[in-house]
Amino acid sequence: MVYYLNEVELKYLTLNLRPASRLNPVPEELRGWNWHSPPLKPYYDVKLPMYLICSSYCPSNRDVYFAMVERAKGEADFPISLGKAVHEALAEAIRQSKKLNFDASPPAEYEDERINRAVKLVWDYTITACKSAFLKTRAEQPYASEEDIILTSMPFLVEHRLDGSLIGASGIIAVDCYDYLHNIVFDVKVGEGKGRLYTTGYALTIESIYEMPVDIGCVVTLNFGENLSITKDLHYIDANLRSRWIEERDRKAEIVFKELDPGKAENCSKFCLFRNRCL
Ligand code: SF4
Repeated sequence: MVYYLNEVELKYLTLNLRPASRLNPVPEELRGWNWHSPPLKPYYDVKLPMYLICSSYCPSNRDVYFAMVERAKGEADFPISLGKAVHEALAEAIRQSKKLNFDASPPAEYEDERINRAVKLVWDYTITACKSAFLKTRAEQPYASEEDIILTSMPFLVEHRLDGSLIGASGIIAVDCYDYLHNIVFDVKVGEGKGRLYTTGYALTIESIYEMPVDIGCVVTLNFGENLSITKDLHYIDANLRSRWIEERDRKAEIVFKELDPGKAENCSKFCLFRNRCL
């Protein structure tokens, strides 16, 4: 399953990332629980959706102006629709697995066959991995309760809802996954894998609410060809990433607070939702 770490990843986590986080700890002022003091304290009284803080496809950040000042809606295209369907399938497959409904079918049929195929691949893979983990844990702990086995074999809060307003983000953030036994936040990307600012934003939000440190993030990138292919970017959410997240938040919050149109960028992304508006 996309949120289970394999042997190599576990070794990298325990022998590299965890020691690195102990040797070079995050400075106190960059912990989410210090949301009330600079530099984490929001400079402007603006709440931004996490995707607007963390995404970087518009070089001039004009997408922020359109979405937050003009309240314009972008036009979803195939990559957006595919990503949304895959996220929903992944979350639902874990929910069904936790109810031990390992024979459940994917919930929705989409008009685009490419999306149906991707959903089926991710659904089968997730259900099979969860079932395997459940049976393994049950065999190893025969006296554990069923609830205990479910909670330890699938330790995932998926689409976990959090209030990011203390750190200047939206009040309805959905974290793709939080593994509460290994204390890792996950972000899932479909097709491209630049997501370390997302895991950083999620970690800061969890720290601001629960006042416990979250040092490790993992960006999971899914690609769909003949088969499902998965790569993981397991990383330490260090001071550098936290400072970058704060800079992005403040730069974008200024655009909204001062209602500044940054103008059209030169190298526009082909994935931009506002292409038609900008041309
Ligand atoms: S078309 Fe270009 S400038 Fe306009 S919002 Fe999209 S990426 Fe930004």
